[in-house]
Amino acid sequence: MLNRQGRPSSAGEAGTNAHPTFTGNKALAQIEPLLFEIGRYDTTGVDIDEPEAFTPRLGGLERKEAIGLPGLSEPETMRHYVRLSQMNYGIDTGLFPLGSCTMKHNARLNERMARLPGFSDVHPLQPVSTVQGALELMNELGRYLVTLTNMTAVALSPKAGAHGELCGMMAIKAAIEARGEGKTRNVVLVPDSAHGTNPATAALIGFVVKPVPAREDGWVHVEDVKERLGPDVAAIMLTNPNTCGLFEPQVAEIAKAIHDAGAYFYCDGANFNAIVGKAKPGDLGVDAMHINLHKTFSTPHGGGGPGSGPVVLSERLAPYAPVPFVRVGTNGFELVEQASDAAEKPFGRMTAFHGQMGMYVRALSYMLSHGSDGMKQASEDAVLNANYIRAGLSDLLSLPFGNKPCMHEVLFDDAWLKDTGVTTLDVAKAMIDEGYHPMTMYFPLVVHGAMLIEPTESESKSSLDLFIATLRDLAFAAKNGDKERFTGAPYHAPRRRLDETRAARNPVLKWTPPSPVAEAAE
Ligand SMILES: *Cc1c(COP(=O)(O)O)cnc(C)c1O
Repeated sequence: MLNRQGRPSSAGEAGTNAHPTFTGNKALAQIEPLLFEIGRYDTTGVDIDEPEAFTPRLGGLERKEAIGLPGLSEPETMRHYVRLSQMNYGIDTGLFPLGSCTMKHNARLNERMARLPGFSDVHPLQPVSTVQGALELMNELGRYLVTLTNMTAVALSPKAGAHGELCGMMAIKAAIEARGEGKTRNVVLVPDSAHGTNPATAALIGFVVKPVPAREDGWVHVEDVKERLGPDVAAIMLTNPNTCGLFEPQVAEIAKAIHDAGAYFYCDGANFNAIVGKAKPGDLGVDAMHINLHKTFSTPHGGGGPGSGPVVLSERLAPYAPVPFVRVGTNGFELVEQASDAAEKPFGRMTAFHGQMGMYVRALSYMLSHGSDGMKQASEDAVLNANYIRAGLSDLLSLPFGNKPCMHEVLFDDAWLKDTGVTTLDVAKAMIDEGYHPMTMYFPLVVHGAMLIEPTESESKSSLDLFIATLRDLAFAAKNGDKERFTGAPYHAPRRRLDETRAARNPVLKWTPPSPVAEAAE
């Protein structure tokens, strides 16, 4: 239904309609239809002269109907996109407790550094003599990553965590093929609690995925791994700290068992924020690990910027690192595009050029401004903040693995909601009404109705106190039978409950004009 301004009526959409407004807007919360719905088809935002008479040379393929682009003036266009951007929730609008995602503040200093023309205006095909500073920065970032992890080499180019996983697993595959075991070693062990990208990565390059079942205590046990080891096993993909927010106490023994069986240890490093400056994956026996610069090293993500997932490699895998990589040569820094000595056996390349320059700058800026003591402190604060939330909620919410200390994120299950008629999803929707982005829900799968909360070190004590108080209020409401507050939520968001299953199964990706607009276009 369209109202007088041609905007869809907000009835049933924007929150409770106790005081309906003419426009459908609620003060600063503005309804924003699609560009096609607000645009006019009889006008355009730019003045272009009528073309002079010409003979088309498209062999009859020229367009016969109006192109159908919506016409809007520059300020109208501007408002459309700014309003859309205001419907977004970001780390700059509020606490973003999305477990396993490390939604931390990206300091504006990092942005300033990334905008320096020497970094932001370089072209990947420029002669290397003109980009020595940029190459030096890449070299320095790589040195920091290798030092923080105690590994041998780094491949900077992967453009996401999952892309980094692919890179690390391709290095493992190349190493196994070089040993002549390419045909026989084709199994990758993946614990049940792993991120979905782990088994997907292994399967994508032809490995057979074998799960390691979850245990009651949330840890991976060395005997469960040993039971599955054999001459067919190429690698294990383990996350540490794991996705239950727990440090794997048997990680060193698992690494030894893996190596004794002739396999490699891939560590999913997306949770590195919990241990930077405290523990080095190389010391734990890791052979390959991706590092999400867009998580641990604060570069923007979640719609705010491209990802960057460098991979660090142990001595055993270093020769297989992909090109290009930066090296100090006789005439300064070089970007090596081709292996030059027999010790280098790159498996290929991951990207057309060298990766996400802007993210390298932000990440190094983060590292240099923190210093080694600051990075260690950040990890400690991240862990402290997660435990502060655990302590503030453990009397009301249920902890699947007992009330033991967690790392940088705390995992609750839905046992505390038993007999309330409220589900994990309902709690998440009620959090939206309270102005919070929900925590990670229903992941990891090993826990029923999982709620995974990661506050990061960015949050102050008062911000955590308000978050805890909000969740306590919600918990009391659920336990006291105020089911409606949950099952109807969100009441105050521009959109209410969506049919998510239908949206996923039957996505409508093409806009079809409603008939009145179609008439106007003719
Ligand atoms: C975020 C994450 C990934 C994937 O990283 P992307 O950059 O989203 O591809 C993999 N594993 C874990 C545990 C993660 O949290």
